[in-house]
Amino acid sequence: MSALYERLMRVAAPEQLLRGEPMAAHTTFRVGGPADWMFFPASEAQLLAALDAAREAGVPAMVIGNGSNLIVRDGGIRGLVIVLGERMSAVRVDGEIVSAQAGAPLGRVAAAAQAAGLTGLEFASGIPGTLGGGCAMNAGAYGGQLSDALLDARVLLDGAVRTLTRGEMEMGYRTTLPLRRGGVVLEARFALARGDRDAILARMRELNARRREKQPLNFPSAGSVFKRPEGHFAGALIEQAGLKGAAIGGAQVSPRHAGFIVNTGGATAADVLALIAHVQREVLRASGVRLETEVRVVGE
Ligand SMILES: Cc1cc2nc3c(=O)[nH]c(=O)nc-3n(C[C@H](O)[C@H](O)[C@H](O)COP(=O)(O)OP(=O)(O)OC[C@H]3O[C@@H](n4cnc5c(N)ncnc54)[C@H](O)[C@@H]3O)c2cc1C
Repeated sequence: MSALYERLMRVAAPEQLLRGEPMAAHTTFRVGGPADWMFFPASEAQLLAALDAAREAGVPAMVIGNGSNLIVRDGGIRGLVIVLGERMSAVRVDGEIVSAQAGAPLGRVAAAAQAAGLTGLEFASGIPGTLGGGCAMNAGAYGGQLSDALLDARVLLDGAVRTLTRGEMEMGYRTTLPLRRGGVVLEARFALARGDRDAILARMRELNARRREKQPLNFPSAGSVFKRPEGHFAGALIEQAGLKGAAIGGAQVSPRHAGFIVNTGGATAADVLALIAHVQREVLRASGVRLETEVRVVGE
């Protein structure tokens, strides 16, 4: 570990590296034990240096964004967690192309497109993740997904940085090549179309109003817990199984939207995971459908 510390201190400032940092403070679910080390790179070069340092020190490393699709177990994460955020969040508009660094919030990328009169990212404006996490997950909402607009992405894959076209990203429903292969999205470009600024803004506002009306945004969560099963809606199946409001410890199936599990205060990751398993069991019993998680479960 100290080899890792020394290597990182050659490229970064001490305040960029935390030790024993609770993951609950870096996930929207507000659960999860400590990461041994947490690093906040200020540039792509620092990010790549940190990954190199971890590899050479034999320390496992994982890259996260806003932690809005993550459940970290209560034992925390052994190794290095690299958080991409504010310091790697430049957004640029060039003609009809919007490009952004991995740490840029999706809402800011969508807002930049709107301000430039470019349509195609309205659906993403209310997704509380980063560009990197969103591209890795192929985030989507209200009939759109990032793969619809993606032109290409710069990705660290198998030790080399390369530009992958949308096709090469192999983006499916909440899955991509980088997610499956442990690649790191560094930057992405979206090819958008000219549109009417006011109409784009109105659409973003309408979708965000729908979110506020339907989703329990007043409680910590990771959004929809389960993937949409073929031919069904997870929320409806959960409701039909009589599970709306079901709770284990501080974790509860949201009474407002059964597809969400919320932290009503003091939930542990164990509460959340036990409730997920309970919902999966009961839905299978009631409807024969096997619910798969969309949220990523990590740590020990
Ligand atoms: C209230 C709420 C509403 C939500 N609504 C939606 C929605 O409408 N649609 C939707 O799709 N999702 C939704 N989500 C889930 C979540 O916001 C998205 O999945 C988002 O794209 C995750 O981004 P993140 O930066 O938070 O990723 P994180 O949660 O930090 O990470 C998610 C996964 O991506 C990996 N990852 C993160 N950054 C990178 C990177 N740069 N390169 C490679 N891998 C990376 C992580 O290792 C992890 O496996 C919602 C969540 C909440 C809390």
